[in-house]
Amino acid sequence: MTGRSAIDSAIDEATGFKPEEWVRLLCPGCGRRQLAKRDETDPPGTHTVRVHCPKCNGGDFDEVFYLDAAGNELQFQEDAPS
Ligand SMILES: [Zn+2]
Repeated sequence: MTGRSAIDSAIDEATGFKPEEWVRLLCPGCGRRQLAKRDETDPPGTHTVRVHCPKCNGGDFDEVFYLDAAGNELQFQEDAPS
């Protein structure tokens, strides 16, 4: 579990940052992590989005996996626009 530090939490509070509005992007290629604003197409309960970063992706279409806080894969409930 990678919790946020007390300083980060204090900054969140000062800036109005709401962790529940964000998801964590995780690149399975290089392990790079980044916070991203939750997208309305993300399945409910999305905690982590596993997708290759632009560096590892190489410009090809990449499969995206949505994981909940427990690391379980989430499935789309409806067809996503392509
Ligand atoms: Zn990468």
